[in-house]
Amino acid sequence: MSYDIVIAGGGLVGGSFALMLAAGLTESARILLVDTQPLAADDRGSIQADFDARSTALSWGSRQIYDKIGLWGQLAPYACAINDIHVSDRGHPGAVRLHNEEMGVEALGYVLENQHLSSVINQALGEQSTIEICAPATVSQARPTPDGMAIQLQVPGGQKQLNTRLLVLADGGRSGLCEQLGIQLDRRPYQQQALVCNVAFEKDHQGQAFERFTDTGPMAILPLNSDSHVDSGYRGALVWTLAEDSAADVLQMPDDEFLAALQQRFGWRLGSMRRVGRRALYPLALTLAQEQIRPGLVLLGNVAHTLHPVAGQGLNLALRDASALAKLLTDTINAGESAEVGAYARLEAFQQAQDWDQRSTVMFSDLTTRLFSNSQPALVTGRNLGLLMMDLMPPARRWFARQAMGLR
Ligand SMILES: Cc1cc2nc3c(=O)[nH]c(=O)nc-3n(C[C@H](O)[C@H](O)[C@H](O)COP(=O)(O)OP(=O)(O)OC[C@H]3O[C@@H](n4cnc5c(N)ncnc54)[C@H](O)[C@@H]3O)c2cc1C
Repeated sequence: MSYDIVIAGGGLVGGSFALMLAAGLTESARILLVDTQPLAADDRGSIQADFDARSTALSWGSRQIYDKIGLWGQLAPYACAINDIHVSDRGHPGAVRLHNEEMGVEALGYVLENQHLSSVINQALGEQSTIEICAPATVSQARPTPDGMAIQLQVPGGQKQLNTRLLVLADGGRSGLCEQLGIQLDRRPYQQQALVCNVAFEKDHQGQAFERFTDTGPMAILPLNSDSHVDSGYRGALVWTLAEDSAADVLQMPDDEFLAALQQRFGWRLGSMRRVGRRALYPLALTLAQEQIRPGLVLLGNVAHTLHPVAGQGLNLALRDASALAKLLTDTINAGESAEVGAYARLEAFQQAQDWDQRSTVMFSDLTTRLFSNSQPALVTGRNLGLLMMDLMPPARRWFARQAMGLR
């Protein structure tokens, strides 16, 4: 069987990318989306309210992308608007506040539970007829051919061989396909782990997101919608960066001890910390693929770049890449040039167009993480002066807000 485009991976990036293609095509094309998990159109009403549900901060830029493909209306009921971002350094006066009014937008960003985000995407995938879906199935082999890529699919009960002009690899980087293709993933560990959990606190967060720099590393609390089903009052999603040697101890602390340690680091802006949910640790590394394009191949999402989660930029950057690639490919197909979708020169133009955004986003999240994980006195003084100056200088504040909002 032959396809114009095969997308390997229907996670948040691959699934969103497929919908961008479906929204932009006016001419027919053969496109296949493959995922190891079933992408059934869930009945959203059946999602169980869960105090521990994991969530993602979508930037204003990502909202615009979902708006453009007609998905924002379905996501909006689950989105908690971020009206303010409060950046501070524990034990020091430096702090910056970013407001949505100052940026002239309805919200600086939104926090959505991942289960709602995937469910809306899967539902939309189930309702469209442009993209064929094969799930559960695994892309187990990929090999270059003169016309694109030859692919082996592992499906329940057997194997299938396919050819495609373009393989879009959106597998998250853990499937072994990159290694098979000889693409190196350059991994730079931060020697830190992110402890992720939801917490409940006394005061209404009023749509404020907090980014706080502590002696252990940066910490973020994102506002979540209140949900009477989980009986939590005010709830937020915590990402707390910890040194590798202390992370396991903090993970295993009894709840009251954990809440006291968190309160001491975070302070009282949200009143007393009242409840902590299930905790999980993620080892932190900046992982960058050494090549993102080859003839007939492009990497999207985590497989291309995996960032430190505390700055909340990974999915947002991937959606901007996906949107630019979808535009290039739909323009190519709509112009009757489907044979060119895997052409290296076109993919190179996409990569060059995204290069600055990728570099500046990686640098922004890497530098802030490293700068704010360092307790050398000269650096602490410097960054506090920086925060104070930024708070006093509207253009600098707006620049910082634009980075956080995913607008470049
Ligand atoms: C703790 C944490 C918090 C985060 N918070 C934020 C945030 O607030 N904002 C933000 O922008 N980003 C955030 N991120 C980053 C964001 O979660 C990722 O950028 C995003 O999930 C990457 O999605 P992906 O689709 O590329 O990869 P994945 O989510 O890994 O999806 C890959 C998909 O490919 C499928 N697959 C794998 N191998 C194969 C194969 N061989 N064949 C077929 N299918 C295959 C898998 O089943 C899966 O569905 C956070 C990350 C972490 C860890």
